[in-house]
Amino acid sequence: MKSSQIEKNTGLIVRLDDVTDHMNWTLMDKCQNLFNKYNIKPLLGVIPNNEDKEFKVFPQRKNFWTIVKNWQESGWEISMHGYNHVYDTETNKKDFFGYGGRSEFYGHSLEAQNNKISKGLNIFKEKGIRVRSFFAPNHTYDLNTFKALKMNGIDNIIDGYGLLPYQEFDINFIPQLFYKEIMLPFGIQSTQVHLNYMNEENFEKFEIFINKNHKYIINFDLALKKVTNNLFSNLTKFTLEKSLKILRAFK
Ligand SMILES: [Zn+2]
Repeated sequence: MKSSQIEKNTGLIVRLDDVTDHMNWTLMDKCQNLFNKYNIKPLLGVIPNNEDKEFKVFPQRKNFWTIVKNWQESGWEISMHGYNHVYDTETNKKDFFGYGGRSEFYGHSLEAQNNKISKGLNIFKEKGIRVRSFFAPNHTYDLNTFKALKMNGIDNIIDGYGLLPYQEFDINFIPQLFYKEIMLPFGIQSTQVHLNYMNEENFEKFEIFINKNHKYIINFDLALKKVTNNLFSNLTKFTLEKSLKILRAFK
């Protein structure tokens, strides 16, 4: 492959998880400065109706939705990250990506999942915020999750295996492979950054990563343009899926 092609197909979306009114605002404020310094446009997974007790312990920003609106106006992508972030089912590794663990969506009826997704989207709409993508808490989906998303006009998911964004069930998947910030030499990927579980030291590492790799960081629109369904991306997806499943089984 030519080096220009590699360059064209190398990039990272910065995905921040668990953004809600109650969160680690000290680190969020630091992130904002860091992103502004390098003109990085991250993708934020906002929980529209947070009921997760783990996040409620953080201080609340009263003007949260105004802040979200400002982020969107400055070119940050607002994504929906579940509805209330409360896990009430167990996947037993039967979830679509085979991660296992507890879930907010997996195993619920299409009606129930549709209800959650449409209620969540309505909150964003009321606040004047445009949402065109989704990722589920704990990466856990079943086929009804995809159907419910499609019913609500959402056809982008920031999750999945592969080295490049791909299409399946008429949905664009932007892969998210690692729990740590890793810059692959090739491929379009997404990170997952959990500020609510990070301490100052973790944040410093993240800062170093951004300082080093900021030129590879792309925004959501650019990643969408890379959605391909060619032989190459299907092959890499297939092999990665196999190897990652094996790796995870041994973790
Ligand atoms: Zn989450």
